[in-house]
Amino acid sequence: MVAHRGPGAGRMIYLDYQATTPVAPEVAAAMQPWIADKFANPHSPSTWGREAAAAIEVARDQVERAIGLEGGSVAFTGSATEALNWALKGTLERADKRRNRIITVATEHAAVLDTCEWLAGQGIDLTVLPVGPDGLLDLADLERELDERVAVVAVMLVNNEIGVIQPIGEIAALAHSCGALMLCDAVQGLGRVDIPVGPDLVAVSAHKIHGPKGIGALWIRGGAEPAPFIHGGGQERGLRSGTLSPALCVGFGAAAKLVSERRAIDHEHVERLWITAGSSLMTDWVINGSTTQRYHGNLNIYWPGVDAARLIADLRDIAFSLGSACASGSGRPSHVLRALGLSDRDARSCIRLGFGRYTTEAEIIDAVNRIDSAARQQRDIAA
Ligand code: PLP
Repeated sequence: MVAHRGPGAGRMIYLDYQATTPVAPEVAAAMQPWIADKFANPHSPSTWGREAAAAIEVARDQVERAIGLEGGSVAFTGSATEALNWALKGTLERADKRRNRIITVATEHAAVLDTCEWLAGQGIDLTVLPVGPDGLLDLADLERELDERVAVVAVMLVNNEIGVIQPIGEIAALAHSCGALMLCDAVQGLGRVDIPVGPDLVAVSAHKIHGPKGIGALWIRGGAEPAPFIHGGGQERGLRSGTLSPALCVGFGAAAKLVSERRAIDHEHVERLWITAGSSLMTDWVINGSTTQRYHGNLNIYWPGVDAARLIADLRDIAFSLGSACASGSGRPSHVLRALGLSDRDARSCIRLGFGRYTTEAEIIDAVNRIDSAARQQRDIAA
């Protein structure tokens, strides 16, 4: 694997796997002919067009296999953000008019929360459930809220900021008990944890599994098709118009095939890195979110009193992120950390280390030791 280089930088230790993942060499190789030579429109009936369409169908099958659910199929989208917007807006549009309610959770990605807020502005009744200090939804809270007015329950599988895993199977069963659909944002879970049986709609994204940016997908259970969100040429069974990019689809397919094939190897590797990172950290760091129900490639931690933004500025050759990153750059702590009950002060001490397939043990030891001593220095100066 080539070294990951930052813009104009020397060798960088990349620990921001939740933001995006390095493109796998196998993915780049699979995409290459579709970028360089094979330019046909996959929706045209020429021999070349049919070849491109066939490659897209192979990719669709690879993504569906990685998702691993029966009774549905995938429609490609431009991103998971688009898939989530489509799932929510299109489901509400299709739903019986008496079902005008959405239930979601305070720690969802902005692609869900902001879309729900937008729908609330259009008159949809929105309920945002809290989580416990461990970041997990209390199923009794959901059960209490459910009624026959709920059209969709939207909950993510693996949280992008803190890595906790919600009980999606149980949530889907509860949603179905009142006739609602269940939408699962599985962007951070795909290829890493099993997607439980139950959801009717599942959003995924290629660039979180070592695929290209600019392509996502919505897995749709047969019969749960949302109303189209993008209108035009009728591609994707009339559900999502727009000429598909064979290169992006093939790249997504190759990435999905790899996560399926490498599932056990990638899992073991991440477990080793998790143990290594944990044992290199001094005891002063606190883990955010459940320590049992979580994906181990996400280490979101804080040391009270440490200025996380300064840590990042001091360690420019290590790419990691503020646990308190917020989309708007307003400097306010993240909605996820607030939902856990962290004070703004503690939230400003949070960092997120994300690692995976191409992270080496040497990198994690080096990065964690340097982050730890930079934090210690800050504390010593403050004392
Ligand atoms: N949902 C989660 C949990 C994410 O982590 C992300 C990406 O940050 C998204 C949705 C949006 O994915 P995309 O970048 O494909 O729009």
